[in-house]
Amino acid sequence: MTAREFAIEVVRKLQGAGFVALWAGGCVRDELLGLVPADYDVASDARPEQVKQLFRRCVEIGAAFGVIEVIGPRGDDGEWLKVQVATFRTDGTYSDGRRPDSVAFCSPDEDAKRRDFTINGMFYDPILQTVFDYVDGQNDLQNKILRAIGNPSDRFAEDKLRVLRAVRMATRFDLHLDPATRAAGQAMAPQIRAVSPERIADELRKLLVHPRRARGGELLRDFGLLEPVLPELLPTYDADQRVLAALPSACSFPLTFATMLRSVGVRTARTIGIRLKFSNDELARIVWLVGHREALLEAVTMPNHQRQPLLIHDGIGELLTLHHAEAMAANAGIAHVEFCERALRDTPPELLNPLPLLTGDDLITLGWPPGKLFKIVLETVRNRQLDGELTTSGEAMSVANAIKLAGR
Ligand code: ATP
Ligand code: MG
Repeated sequence: MTAREFAIEVVRKLQGAGFVALWAGGCVRDELLGLVPADYDVASDARPEQVKQLFRRCVEIGAAFGVIEVIGPRGDDGEWLKVQVATFRTDGTYSDGRRPDSVAFCSPDEDAKRRDFTINGMFYDPILQTVFDYVDGQNDLQNKILRAIGNPSDRFAEDKLRVLRAVRMATRFDLHLDPATRAAGQAMAPQIRAVSPERIADELRKLLVHPRRARGGELLRDFGLLEPVLPELLPTYDADQRVLAALPSACSFPLTFATMLRSVGVRTARTIGIRLKFSNDELARIVWLVGHREALLEAVTMPNHQRQPLLIHDGIGELLTLHHAEAMAANAGIAHVEFCERALRDTPPELLNPLPLLTGDDLITLGWPPGKLFKIVLETVRNRQLDGELTTSGEAMSVANAIKLAGR
């Protein structure tokens, strides 16, 4: 069974029990665009308790918001199929500019009006194959317009994250901004600071992995979101955006973000990543890429011991993509990138990353006291091994002893 088939089953069962049940929001938009939705959401007049009675396997997601996740059989990819069923609701007042103080269950048309943009505010009955459009979303989708539902200033004031969502939606679906929506978003942008870093980071991730990320970068600036979210980028934004635009379509978030940050240096990159609460893996990769963004420029002439540790790093593919984009944006040559790609392709692993001739354990066995000398010896021996100057453990040991003697 596919996710879509399961989402139809869930609607059929709810309707069979006498409830109104419709697909809602993003999945309707995606279906109308001929895209495959990432997930299907169902909206219904069934209350959470009633949903739970109807389906055997349920997880309460947002009990306060009336959202129940219904678990189905395993899908074709082996993952459990899941559909979120939410009771039609209106959101109460937003006193913190982030989430409603309360919610109340309501009719579908009222539920449509609490949603952010018209293209995200439609319902679809997959049994009758009918769209229920209370917000004129179909028109906007056809004309490629992103428009807030209702009064744009009020809607952005309720939840400031919607300004960033506007940028993401316009980027992703290549939409023009309705002028009133744009103006209200620009006016509200400084207040995005009220939103948690996790939610901001989540939007940035989705925005930057999209192939149209360069438009996203323009819109971030156009909306005035850089000052409150990434002020460090302002001085060098144009140049960095040119490199961002030169990246290939499919790129990881750390690579795209490191490209945005390429000019700020590793310390500032780390500060930004910590502020936005990136994961440790994301942060490490971003900082490594920023720190090494010029490291392979001289790859053709540099000694092995400088090049090879980079070539065997997990991030080498991304680092080469970054070097390639830098070269494209500067109209410069890519001989260094091609040289490295060839080396990666043609060098057998045992040459690219040979077993060390000498290890810390070897030195400990020989009774060397651990300390500063240890590190210097291992590094020197390793570098000379990679450069082809040492080929046996005996030679390595003589070098180690010579360094030790000299250090006395
Ligand atoms: P995606 O494919 O990225 O998941 P989506 O439109 O499904 O896009 P979700 O964040 O999954 O986005 O939200 C589902 C629906 O919930 C949206 O289509 C929209 O109707 C509504 N929604 C989500 N976030 C907000 C918000 N901050 N304010 C108002 N409505 C929202
Ligand atoms: Mg979604």
